[in-house]
Amino acid sequence: MTDHQANCVHCERTSEQVPLIQMNFQGNHYWICPQHLPIVIHKPQMLVGKLPGVENLKGEEHDHQ
Ligand SMILES: [Zn+2]
Repeated sequence: MTDHQANCVHCERTSEQVPLIQMNFQGNHYWICPQHLPIVIHKPQMLVGKLPGVENLKGEEHDHQ
């Protein structure tokens, strides 16, 4: 993984194209754009495969398990 070029974990756009928000997750740093930040909040399962460990998060819509 390269860390010199920040890009959104979902759409992979860089900070040259969109503002990016840094996330600190399980000791690693990730970036996400404001457009896709709601995915982390509401549908984190959509990021499985892109954000390691995200499967442990629960979206608001699935808290009845
Ligand atoms: Zn994005």
